[in-house]
Amino acid sequence: MKIADCGTDFVHSWVVQNRGLTVLIDTGYAEDWPHFLSRMATVDLDPSALDYLFLTHAHDDHAGFVNDVMEAVPGLKVITSRKTLTGLRRGQNGPGGGVPDDDAAAVCRQMIRDGHGRHRFPAIEEGLLSRFLWVEDGTIGEILPGAAVLALPGHTEDSIGLLWDGALFCGDAAQNRADWPLKTTIWIGDLDAYRASWQKMIDVRPERIYPGHGAPFDAAELKKELPALAEVTLNPSIQAKK
Ligand SMILES: [Zn+2]
Repeated sequence: MKIADCGTDFVHSWVVQNRGLTVLIDTGYAEDWPHFLSRMATVDLDPSALDYLFLTHAHDDHAGFVNDVMEAVPGLKVITSRKTLTGLRRGQNGPGGGVPDDDAAAVCRQMIRDGHGRHRFPAIEEGLLSRFLWVEDGTIGEILPGAAVLALPGHTEDSIGLLWDGALFCGDAAQNRADWPLKTTIWIGDLDAYRASWQKMIDVRPERIYPGHGAPFDAAELKKELPALAEVTLNPSIQAKK
């Protein structure tokens, strides 16, 4: 397995080459598309090499350039949960939830200053939906040999992860923030579901976890942090304006 990061400093777009297939995990913000193309060139990959886009959830920083990459690569198919459809059609993150700590609140305030406070992104072009493969929890060997989809709700209801030959691409089910003791993402929609998804990631025993934000890490770290996660409460006051 070869893994390249073609995303930005903020959000990853992992490009995974494994078993003769090339899979992009998530797109960044809509404006990250030119950066993605230049990153692909830097690692000697042509976008036409992409077989699949695995979309972990329908948020602005993960689904921003889905239309662009699908239009640029006519053979590309998208693997995602049917639950993303509402958000993809709306072109905006869903409501509800809160921040788990002060650091997360500071990051959210910075997002607002950066012009991302409304969490909008280009709605999916309806004509592209025929190239979507809807997956639920379980093995998807008929699409990606040896791979399984994990439903990982909590950050959002539609969140899924890809477990493929020991590597777990978990989207925002966990986040590795520098100088922050917990691998919690900066926004949690449903805390009980989020905790259960951490247990699920631990139980499938991945060799390495590749989050949407921050450096890859070992699943053992999640296990160590479970007691602290049990103490987390949400502050809903940092709400994006609609
Ligand atoms: Zn994210």
